[in-house]
Amino acid sequence: MADEETLVAQEEVEHLDAPARGSAEELLDAGASDLLGRMRHSTAHVMAEAIMRLFPGAKLGIGPAITDGFYYDVLLDRALTPDDLAAIEAEMAKSIAANHVFKLAEHTFADARAALVAFDQPFKVEIMDDLAAKAVANGETAPNVTTYRHGDFEDLCRGPHVESTGKIGAFKLLSVAGAYWRGKSDRPMLQRIYGTAWETKEQLEQYLWRRDEARKRDHRKLGVALDLFSFHDVSPGSAFWHPKGQRLWRTLETAMREMQERRGYQEVSTPIVVSKQLWEQSGHWDLYRDNMFIIESEGEEYSLKPMNCPESTVIYRTQTRSYRDLHFAFQNLGASTATSSQGRSVD
Ligand SMILES: [Zn+2]
Repeated sequence: MADEETLVAQEEVEHLDAPARGSAEELLDAGASDLLGRMRHSTAHVMAEAIMRLFPGAKLGIGPAITDGFYYDVLLDRALTPDDLAAIEAEMAKSIAANHVFKLAEHTFADARAALVAFDQPFKVEIMDDLAAKAVANGETAPNVTTYRHGDFEDLCRGPHVESTGKIGAFKLLSVAGAYWRGKSDRPMLQRIYGTAWETKEQLEQYLWRRDEARKRDHRKLGVALDLFSFHDVSPGSAFWHPKGQRLWRTLETAMREMQERRGYQEVSTPIVVSKQLWEQSGHWDLYRDNMFIIESEGEEYSLKPMNCPESTVIYRTQTRSYRDLHFAFQNLGASTATSSQGRSVD
């Protein structure tokens, strides 16, 4: 149990920037545009194969390549331990030694869906149903889909992959974290298994060394150790600045003010919480809504500002301005609450 907790705790430190995925197209996208990405995504397939062999009832989510590695989301009947990861790695090594060829196949929608139902893979079936629903909404019929097979394992996938499992270089499974299916808290919690893969053993070792060093310098640990700031569940993601940290903040802020003033910026301050109307107008709502912190109050939707510039334009249009006033620059320091960490970026 302690081991599982350690695994999850490591993960939270490390993968806050893992991509959030929503649409069926995104779920099918292997994220593998370059050679290393193809190899990493191929390693994810090999990991899924190993998991299905060791945990025959496993339900597979998605398994894309990400920066420095890959992951696969799986639903299992128990939490994985470090020993499980070692067993999965050993199983993967067998598949790589066997040098199975990755074979692309195209299937009709109905055939592919029926196969996934037969294999009891509800998350994959859901991805397919979303593809079909989208096609219908566009007045089209459900599309053919592609799979990649290596050995006995076949996965719904757009690819691309390396030619065969033998092309996979040095890899290592790193950690496990909880991940809601499609990032939604009302959906099942899967186990996201992270791994890394490199062309050579030396590159893998270098990466693991860098990762260890970065972990020692994690700001969430250093902040507490140096008594600069701390994070608390009562305000997720926002720092509570301690006296020494606040002093650092003020020092940096003063230096920034001096630099901006020298360059002709005028300082303004705008609210942290703003109606979605403004974000719809700026385009943030359509593009970045999934990553915005949305607040509902009295039937209206608001968001913490994802950036300052749309609000600066609100100030700009309070006057009729002449082209002679251009060039014109605001330094938007956000709300002037001394301890707030939101909305201070200059943009
Ligand atoms: Zn794939």
